[in-house]
This record gives sequence, C-alpha cells and structure tokens, in this order.
Amino acid sequence: MSILDPRSIVVALTVSTAVMALVLDYIRRHYPLRVSGHGSWAAAGALFTIGAFLFSGRDLWLPNSIALMPPNILLIGGAILYYVGCRKYYELPVRWRSWLILLILFTFGMAWWTYVTPSYVIRTILFTGTQIVIYSVNLLMLLQREGRRLPVRLVEAFMVLLIAVALMRMITISARSAGGLIFEPTLMQTVYAGAQSVSHFVFIFGAVLMATDRLVMDLNNLAQHDYLTQLLNRRALFGRMESEIARAKRSGSGPALMILDLDHFKTINDTKGHQFGDKVLIHFAKNLQGHLRETDYVGRYGGEEFMAMLPDTDQATATHVAQRIHGLTNDAHPLACQVSIGLSVWAGPGDSLEALIARADSAVYKAKEQGRNRICIA
Ligand code: GH3
Ligand code: MG
Ligand code: MG
Repeated sequence: MSILDPRSIVVALTVSTAVMALVLDYIRRHYPLRVSGHGSWAAAGALFTIGAFLFSGRDLWLPNSIALMPPNILLIGGAILYYVGCRKYYELPVRWRSWLILLILFTFGMAWWTYVTPSYVIRTILFTGTQIVIYSVNLLMLLQREGRRLPVRLVEAFMVLLIAVALMRMITISARSAGGLIFEPTLMQTVYAGAQSVSHFVFIFGAVLMATDRLVMDLNNLAQHDYLTQLLNRRALFGRMESEIARAKRSGSGPALMILDLDHFKTINDTKGHQFGDKVLIHFAKNLQGHLRETDYVGRYGGEEFMAMLPDTDQATATHVAQRIHGLTNDAHPLACQVSIGLSVWAGPGDSLEALIARADSAVYKAKEQGRNRICIA
C-alpha cells in the first residue's frame, strides 16, 4: 500500500490554514460583530501556520536547534489561543493565568527533554498529553453550550479526532512502535501528521463559519426588531401575524388583536423632551412584552403605537389581558403613561388580517373619542 507523504499533507493544509487565518483577520477588522473571539482565533491560526511550517522543515532545511522546540510551543500556544477565542465567542470570562502557567511548564519540559536529558519519547508524550488536556477542556466547554450549530459541531468532531489520534500516538510512542522520524512515510506518521494538520485547518475554518454564522444571526435579529424597543418591527410582526391567520384558518381557532396607542404622547415629548419620550416607549414595550405569553406576537406598529396578536384567544380572555396591560400603565412609575387599547377578535375563516387590524384601529379611535385611557372592543 502506498502511503501519502506526511510532509506534503502538512504543507498543503498549513497553506490552507494560513488563508483561513487571513479570512478571520479580515472578518475581525471589517464585520460588525457583537462579540470578540475572532482576534484570538486569527492569532491561533497564525501560530498553527508558523508552527506547522517550521515542523515541515524538520530533517530537511531547518536545523534541529530550531525545529525541535519552537513548533511544539507554537502549536500548544495556538491551542490555548483557540480555546480563549471559543470562550470569548460565548462571552465567557477568560482565565489567562492557569494557561500561561501550563505554557511555561510545557516550554520548560520541552527544553529539559531537548537539551538536558534529550528524549524524543518523553517530548512526544509531553506534547500529545498537553494537547489532550487543552482540547478536552475546549471540547467540554463547547459541549456544554446550548443551541450549538453546524460549525460548532464540526469543530467538536475534529477535536474528538485530534484527541483520539494524540492518545493513539501517546500509546504507540510509549510502546516504541511509532516510526523514529516524524516524517517517515509510515501509516502511523501519516495518520498523525494528517490528523494534526487537518484538525488545525478545520478549527480555523470552523471559526470563520462560527463568525459568519453569528453575523447572520445578528443581522437577522436586527432586520426583525425595532432598534429602540427591541420588539418585533412592523415587517416581522406582519409576517408572523399572516402565518398565524393561515394557521387559524386550518385549525378553526383564531387570534385576538390589540392595538395600543399611548395617550398624549406628543405632550410628553413636548414637555419632558424627546429622550424622556424614548424612555417611556422602552419602558412601555418592556412591560407589554413581560405581560404577554411567549407564544404571543408583540411589535411596534409605528411611533407610539404597538400591536399584539394573541393566538387562540377569545374575547373574554383578550379583554382580561388588555385590562392587565392597561392597569400596569397606570402605576406610579416615573415612566408610566396612559394608553388607549383597541381590541378585535377573529371572526372565523372568512376573516382576514386586514379586517382584524381595521376593526382594532377603529376601536382605538373610539377609545380616544371616549376620553382615552381605556379599552374598546370592535
Ligand atoms: P393621542 O392621545 O391622540 O394618541 O395623542 P398623541 O400625542 O399620542 O398622538 P400624536 O399622533 O399626535 O403624536 C404621537 C407622537 O409620538 C408624535 C411623535 O413625535 C412621537 N413619536 C413617534 N415616534 C417616537 C419615538 O421614537 N420617540 C419619541 N420620543 N417620540 C416619538
Ligand atoms: Mg398614534
Ligand atoms: Mg398616541
């Protein structure tokens, strides 16, 4: 059986890793991302690249004095930085000290078993053992996160591969059955060098995917939510309400709709300032959302007008909910304001979203006409 040349595998994957690290750095500098992590990942990619590049020169063009220690330290430093990037990505605190101590101990061990009592076997055990520790900690951290998406699963899978191959190498080197030279074209060396390089590549490629995945989620969120109140914006709200009406037509049980228009809001702005008005809107939106169910849709219809759709809700229940919301706007909070609420209830399969909104709208108008600060039902 012909074995792939381990050195060529390392060089090819190292070039790919370097390209991915550059892409990550571009993302870090140019994408409007909410959290960090990308800088640490890009730095990890740089260390993986330089480490693997020096590694590939071993027994060839690079003197042993340089080829023995620095690549190992760079690859371990890269593993630590990658873990730091993952923690930052998930907004977890980073504890540098323990990892710095690990890196110093590792460097000391490498120096000892390179120059004082040279031992290839112990150096290999030290390197693979340290890798197993760092990647196991990283893997456990990722596994504990909720809502993991494909890029994270990809990285996890390759961490399992790297840990497994490092363990295998540790065992075989202890039994002295691995090849003597790192780039000997034996099956074990090919698998080891290949798994290391491909894992490093996938980690950085996975980081690019994670970063863009986060960006897409952020942009999606921005596109669907109102900037000031964080409620659904009009477009997103209407999309959801249309689906709810379609569902109601199939199931036969329909929603109630509420339009809430703050009373004399222009006067609030005029007397207390626009910024105060904004705070009132935020306060009202928070209260409104807090008093509705997770399954209800609530959004900002425009200016100081809000809309809520309550699926599967009859008139009695909807009136009760409206009374609760109305009650909480009349509390003694400094940001409290009064509101007029117009209510309409689904009238059966012949009803439409437009008709529901029109009825709730005229109910609000009626509430305003009757003196505001009240609930009217269409
Ligand atoms: P009514 O009781 O009849 O509803 O009177 P109103 O003053 O609430 O209604 P009107 O439509 O006359 O005024 C609404 C005001 O809401 C005018 C507008 O400047 C203000 N407004 C709209 N959007 C915002 C916003 O985002 N922030 C602030 N502070 N004010 C806003
Ligand atoms: Mg209005
Ligand atoms: Mg108003």
